Amino acid sequence: MNKKIIITIIVFLLLIGGIFIFVNQNKSFEEKLKDIGYSDKEAKEISNLVSEEDENIILNNEYNDDLINILNSKNYKDDNLKLYLEYASNNKKADTNAIINIVNLDLTDYEYSDFLGELAGQKYFIKNNLDRYLKYDSDDAEKTVKEVNCNLDYDYYENTKETNTDDDNLMLVNKYYYLTEDYEPDDLVTLDSTYNMGTNNQMRKVAADAFMKMADAARLDNITIKNASGYRSYEYQVTLYNDYVKRDGKQAADTYSARAGYSEHQTGLVSDINQIEDAFENTDAFKWLSENSYKYGFILRFPKDKENLTGYKYEPWHYRYVGTKAAKIIHDEDLTLEEYYAYYIQND
Ligand SMILES: [Zn+2]
Repeated sequence: MNKKIIITIIVFLLLIGGIFIFVNQNKSFEEKLKDIGYSDKEAKEISNLVSEEDENIILNNEYNDDLINILNSKNYKDDNLKLYLEYASNNKKADTNAIINIVNLDLTDYEYSDFLGELAGQKYFIKNNLDRYLKYDSDDAEKTVKEVNCNLDYDYYENTKETNTDDDNLMLVNKYYYLTEDYEPDDLVTLDSTYNMGTNNQMRKVAADAFMKMADAARLDNITIKNASGYRSYEYQVTLYNDYVKRDGKQAADTYSARAGYSEHQTGLVSDINQIEDAFENTDAFKWLSENSYKYGFILRFPKDKENLTGYKYEPWHYRYVGTKAAKIIHDEDLTLEEYYAYYIQND
């Protein structure tokens, strides 16, 4: 016989043999799956979804009617497959997303509940707050995460802490975080009458520069923006708050005025703009700011419908400088500074 023909036959036989071994190996994983209890259809689908490493993990676990959903979940992480299967077999009632999120966040030491699963699925979930979430008096996971992140499991002015001034433009001053009596920014600059109309005419340089840039841009659109109240010292706030308490009583004063040390105006990063009154909401300047302030690093600090999160009534005139990066996220994700701070700064 011709040598060439012999070689061709050998190569052909090797190829057939290779295919046979390959098919058989595949088939054997599927067969083993069927031995555990998976149906033909399930076995086929699973074998198409997993890597060779995963095969052993799956074969070492009992039948799991959620396996295909787990493998297809958008938050599925290959490294966690073993843990998903263990958790699923220990918690038969857990749904797929709960299993995936609880394992991904390393919460498997916590006793399973549907609520734990819902909490773990929240975008702004903070692991350090989990015990507080579980103790909070609400069965709405989204609301719980939002409110506890803003410290609402404590009353206002309860459990207060000195704010971390190293957070600089992002420092949080509210009814839980205060500035000490002697905190005064060392880079205050004075705004001239082009940009200012009140007696508290100072801001920190970084905020003042951004403010002037914003006012200049507004002017090109025929909008006038002027600072009506910027930096206010601790002493100034003492007098202001006490006057309000004398006039309206402490309870009412607390809804619109900060106690000394708890006013953001002491940061030098704030401007009350044009008119310090509700009617400011109906002006073109307000509309312009709503659309543009974040581009210059300013946010509306006490928005409507977020009174409980910020601790203050809606103030259409009060803008806070946080820098353009944070302002954009706060704007795009519709957050308050409290929510942003908890998730993006403290949680880091
Ligand atoms: Zn203000």
